[in-house]
Amino acid sequence: MKIFQSKSELKKYISHLKSDKKTIGFVPTMGALHQGHLSLVKKAKDKNDVAVVSIFVNPTQFDNKEDLEKYPKTLENDIKLLESVNCDVLYAPTADDVYDGNVKSESFDFDGLEHQMEGKFRDGHFDGVGTIVKALFEIVTPDVGYFGKKDFQQLQIIKKMVEKHNLPVKIKGMPIFREEDGLAMSSRNTRLTKEHREAAPFIYKTLKKARKKFGTKNAKEVVAWVEKKFKKHPLLELEYFTIANEATLQPIENAEPNKKYRAFIAVYAGDIRLIDNIRFKNN
Ligand code: AMP
Repeated sequence: MKIFQSKSELKKYISHLKSDKKTIGFVPTMGALHQGHLSLVKKAKDKNDVAVVSIFVNPTQFDNKEDLEKYPKTLENDIKLLESVNCDVLYAPTADDVYDGNVKSESFDFDGLEHQMEGKFRDGHFDGVGTIVKALFEIVTPDVGYFGKKDFQQLQIIKKMVEKHNLPVKIKGMPIFREEDGLAMSSRNTRLTKEHREAAPFIYKTLKKARKKFGTKNAKEVVAWVEKKFKKHPLLELEYFTIANEATLQPIENAEPNKKYRAFIAVYAGDIRLIDNIRFKNN
């Protein structure tokens, strides 16, 4: 695997790949890699000539200083994992390199997708995400970008950005990888205390029960039921639970035929904020 810390070196290498007509699959990450990340890399490698991964903990998408400072960093192990799935290129820049010394967000209009859920609770988050992903796309010039449905709102926002800015890249959304007990894999899981780690599968269990209830109850009733469940939980604090239209991310009250819905959740397990989501069927 070739490792680049400098964008000018990476760009030179990419231009060679392009002149050899190689297709590029790209997976942007913040590192502390797990099987969820690796599933994206394997897909990128499978469907393209070359798989490129970036590891960069992007400061402009964090509204919580402690979350940024304590974000797990395991670069040596990440490199081993990437080599184990035959990743071709890793770009692991400093903030100054990728931002050209100006570590600031641009401001984006994602047609309202940015005002829901994560956008409501994490100030400036999606401006930070849009800024870094656009910059990385310009450096890597991928044919296809792979993103996890674990961050479903982010996936929709990236698709919107590509559409609005006419970026020459296809975006693929990939399934959520879970631990055996159902907890969605996340780099932040390693920061959970033993107690909170043991409690955390409650999140996905509750999502599945809520999905079942959605068959007979309306969205408002299901939201109230989930809120009640979390109020009673001694270790997990609900930040939001929303049932929304998949395309617009607007919360709904009643399901309509032929629309796709998804439930979204954010929960504090001690200091650690966890998110998850699940597809809801409508009858
Ligand atoms: P992150 O390093 O958390 O920024 O994630 C990098 C990419 O991996 C994003 O597209 C995430 O949605 C995706 N990802 C993170 N966790 C998972 C998971 N459990 N399953 C599938 N994809 C994931």
